[in-house]
Amino acid sequence: MRRKIVAGNWKMNKTPSEAKALAAEIAATLGSEPCAVEVVVCPPAIDLPAVSAVLAGTQIGFGAQNMYHEPKGAFTGETAAPMLVDLGAKYVILGHSERRTYFKETDADVNKKTKAALAAGLTPIVCVGETLEERDAGKTGDVVAGQVRGSLADLGADLVKVVIAYEPVWAIGTGRTATPEQAQEVDALIRKTLADMGGADVAEKVRIQYGGSMKPENAKELMAKPDIDGGLIGGAALKADSFAGIIAAAAAAK
Ligand code: PEP
Repeated sequence: MRRKIVAGNWKMNKTPSEAKALAAEIAATLGSEPCAVEVVVCPPAIDLPAVSAVLAGTQIGFGAQNMYHEPKGAFTGETAAPMLVDLGAKYVILGHSERRTYFKETDADVNKKTKAALAAGLTPIVCVGETLEERDAGKTGDVVAGQVRGSLADLGADLVKVVIAYEPVWAIGTGRTATPEQAQEVDALIRKTLADMGGADVAEKVRIQYGGSMKPENAKELMAKPDIDGGLIGGAALKADSFAGIIAAAAAAK
């Protein structure tokens, strides 16, 4: 049985003081009753020290939205995995479509980062997903399977530690959510690809999220699908009540 994982991607929103307040509100809203769902927030890197202090001792994990693949050195402006670990981060989002589009990250870049994250003990949340043009051209399966194979190449036994987020680019921040059937179809295809790469046992254990305009109103139906093991949430993660609503939906969708 895979434990559902709901992660908030705050993107480039919230100053350190705003992030501190939001993290505190989310922690207060969730309370201290053990949660059936693994809950993660990913604020901007500069907010991480403040969020780390607020979330210490809570059941909410936190992580970054990106990192560099080298552990240290002359790479001006970058953040390394050991720096995140030192702050108590346990996760890092990698290969988000905004990074692939605006910062030209390739599957090979994501693969290097994924290996570095795993080597440092972080759980990578690796994002894949097709554009509308690719979907309309009937290329969704090839595109997504290719991203999974490229981004997660040569991980060996560590493949099982990765979380994958299927995020159709056309659904991110658009208010246009994939139907539960569309999301399930691609999450199942990702699981089949993982089985080809690392065997059926590994594929059964890897958590595969859906992301793209998920909200409390549509979350339960999406996460009730057999291959959807949680959500990566953008806009709705910026308000404690909507984020908590999605977590409650994930718990109810089991
Ligand atoms: C995201 O950016 O990962 C995302 C899913 O955004 P939104 O929920 O706003 O579509």
